Amino acid sequence: MPMRLTRGWMEVDLDAVVRNARAMATRVPAILPMVKADAYGVGAVRVARALERLDPWGYGVATVEEGRELRDAEIARPIVLFTSVNAEELPAVRDARLTPALASEAAIERWARIGGGAWHLPIDTGMSRSGVCWSEIRALSPTLLEHPPEGAFTHFHSAALDDGTQGEQEARFERALAELSAMPRLLHTENSAALARNAHSRWNVGRPGIFLYGVGSGDRAQLEPEPVVSVRARIVELRTVAAGESVSYDATFRAGRETRIATLPVGYADGYRRALGNRAYAIIAGRRAPVIGVVTMDMTMLDVTDVHAEIGDIATLIGSDGGEDVDIARIAEWASASPYELLTGLHARLPRHYRGGEAG
Ligand SMILES: *Cc1c(COP(=O)(O)O)cnc(C)c1O
Repeated sequence: MPMRLTRGWMEVDLDAVVRNARAMATRVPAILPMVKADAYGVGAVRVARALERLDPWGYGVATVEEGRELRDAEIARPIVLFTSVNAEELPAVRDARLTPALASEAAIERWARIGGGAWHLPIDTGMSRSGVCWSEIRALSPTLLEHPPEGAFTHFHSAALDDGTQGEQEARFERALAELSAMPRLLHTENSAALARNAHSRWNVGRPGIFLYGVGSGDRAQLEPEPVVSVRARIVELRTVAAGESVSYDATFRAGRETRIATLPVGYADGYRRALGNRAYAIIAGRRAPVIGVVTMDMTMLDVTDVHAEIGDIATLIGSDGGEDVDIARIAEWASASPYELLTGLHARLPRHYRGGEAG
């Protein structure tokens, strides 16, 4: 047993991450797991080390620091930096041996001038966020001829919506590719939702993110991930209040009967969102205990009137216990947040405890 699990913590099942990645890898010749934002809050170095055994093509990050952290952990594969950087950051990108996404003639030329290596061409096909517009590729032709990219990619804006826009974006991507004087060696378009929907990718690399961390993309997906993250906390106080008493800030909960209340020492500063009050429930020994009153920064209150609860007992806020379960998608819905936001917000203060992932 490593350290005693006190207060609150996040449990990360690295073997489940590996199994989720393996499921994604059945759909596309190679995967480029997205480990940006500290692997969505799950822990980039631990995740990348666990995924090494699947022989991914490389990893995806959003900042130079994220790439450097993986290099410091001796991850030697290509690391693609997907978010554009300003020119003054390019030497740091090169020094960390990262593969940048370069979206302008000036950036491509600067990269070549400073002796940068491989780079990828981002093509904007409708996300309107980053990359070269699909209809304006031709203007870059002389630059691309002189400095050919190793890869080209685009990003879908609504892969989970099944609204036909993905096909439209792919058609634009193909039209842009047809303008290139040489076809880049690597072509990639699909995020988790697209991979979960297409049995066979038309491209040679896929970029799964959130699926690896246990969040699926809805009913139409053919693949569902295994859960990866659980959040648990120990009860630190118990009290009984009379009918009519209120709970937490703004008195949004008023006891309709004599109510037994358990206090957990985690709150929205741990990523358990304020809006979950009066909506979510926790699980104590396989039974549901509703969250009552607004969640505060450091503490959350549960109604345990009908649940056996003692000081020190473990409450599951995300995850399963004794046949009951609360998943991230449901918590996100209750919090009116996206599962991405919810997941990346969890590790701010919660220590992470890892299971699996070590064996080769
Ligand atoms: C974050 C990201 C992904 C992964 O998206 P998921 O929806 O988490 O699978 C893929 N590609 C790019 C460019 C991204 O920024």
